[in-house]
Amino acid sequence: MSVTNQEREVKVYGNYINGEWVNSATGQVSESTNPAKPSEIVGIVQKSSVEEVNEAFTAANEAHKSWSRLAGPARGDYLLKVSNILEERLDDIALTMTKEMGKTYVEAKGEAARGVAILRYYAGEGMRSTGDIIPSSDSSALMFTTRASLGVVGVITPWNFPIAIPIWKIAPALVYGNTVVLKPANETSVTAAKIIECFDEAKLPKGVINLVTGSGAVIGDAMLANPYIKAVTFTGSNTVGKHIGRQAFERGIKYQLEMGGKNPVIVAEDADLDLAVEATINGGLKSTGQKCTATSRVIVHESVYEEFKQKLMSETAKITVGNGEDSSTWMGPCASASQLETVLSYIEIGQQEGAVLLQGGERVEGEGYFVTPAIFENVTPDMRIAREEIFGPVLCLMKVSSMEEAVELANDSDFGLSASIFTTNIQKMLTFINEMDVGLVRINAESAGVELQAPFGGMKQSSSHSREQGRAAIEFFTSIKTVFVK
Ligand code: NAD
Repeated sequence: MSVTNQEREVKVYGNYINGEWVNSATGQVSESTNPAKPSEIVGIVQKSSVEEVNEAFTAANEAHKSWSRLAGPARGDYLLKVSNILEERLDDIALTMTKEMGKTYVEAKGEAARGVAILRYYAGEGMRSTGDIIPSSDSSALMFTTRASLGVVGVITPWNFPIAIPIWKIAPALVYGNTVVLKPANETSVTAAKIIECFDEAKLPKGVINLVTGSGAVIGDAMLANPYIKAVTFTGSNTVGKHIGRQAFERGIKYQLEMGGKNPVIVAEDADLDLAVEATINGGLKSTGQKCTATSRVIVHESVYEEFKQKLMSETAKITVGNGEDSSTWMGPCASASQLETVLSYIEIGQQEGAVLLQGGERVEGEGYFVTPAIFENVTPDMRIAREEIFGPVLCLMKVSSMEEAVELANDSDFGLSASIFTTNIQKMLTFINEMDVGLVRINAESAGVELQAPFGGMKQSSSHSREQGRAAIEFFTSIKTVFVK
């Protein structure tokens, strides 16, 4: 179905429940708009009710009975089919993502390609071992472990990686025999619907995957209250994550929370400064700084501070800010009006706190939610801009006089997701690996960007301490059974 808007057709996307595209019985919809051009409506999605959530869970619970009994390789075959369909539609889905949340088309295509690769990785998982033979002290007995699926998994995702995050949760959930109800972020529900279209076209059995769009509070609480939910995997803010964690704990179901970051990069006195500048810019400002692994605190040794600062300022000044659909754009808009407001408010807060705004942080005139990349210096660890996740293109420079001070400062955060160091000294590398309280330690590499076959997740307030991606995903999406046969 579509409606006419701005002299062009705007498609209305339904919920996907039990293998059918259905509109919400509420009759209510919301418009997904383009942050680079807010008057452009990208698509119309359903504002669903508790009833639709319950219908999706009932369908997923019914489907689990046969899906969980299907052989692993057969489940993998379905994922392979989905990957091929996604690959065929990659350009269109990437463009939809750029229109919905502003990421440049180049980055969006990279993310969509990542989605294809994740599906293929987990298609292969369907053929890999899921248990161990354990020597029994009884020589006539056989003891081993096998893994059982959990049942229906609720998947709640943010807007910043609208293809990769849903897929890196859905693919392992399905291949290990679970069924899924996906609730994507409102801002990127059209992209989510287009992903689910790929699953639909691959003809997964009815009810194996379901999509319900709408308000986080309404849909989220209904998901957590549903009697069929057996696990919830969430990526998003700490406030919402903790709310979900509390409900899951009360219900006694498994939960996985991937939340915020305040990621440091250390630039040691022996660093390759050009490399460090390039990685700080890529890690901190790509996707307009809207990555949980984005570089935010830049801790630089005093002996190279001035040189690093000058290079960082001059390279950052070259960044082209604009519509992500234009090939000349390096950095797109903030993903929403509220995201832009948050960034601008932190620019104010930083200055009020006494940090020096070296450049950027200005609202770009025009319709879209554009801001220029900001660099602060004289940032002290007690300042809000040094402690709170801004989720925007803001870098905070801090000067130190020793490696010990640098590591202490880097660890002085409630978050513990990713940390980078730039150094050519092996001892500094080893100290950094050993001392950093983070889930992702990166040496001479930007803080953002982990390969899909490696575990991903954080320490401290960044995560509920489970890991996503790679083989690590099996720990969350299955339960171990220990078998003794005599
Ligand atoms: P958010 O917490 O506002 O929303 C995330 C999801 O939760 C959305 O689908 C939203 O609709 C839903 N939601 C909102 N209220 C809810 C409720 N009461 N119950 C259940 N669900 C509810 O986060 P966001 O703004 O979409 O994303 C930005 C945040 O995500 C940042 O904090 C970022 O660091 C984090 N993030 C973390 C990772 C990671 O892997 N650690 C990756 C990407 C983003």
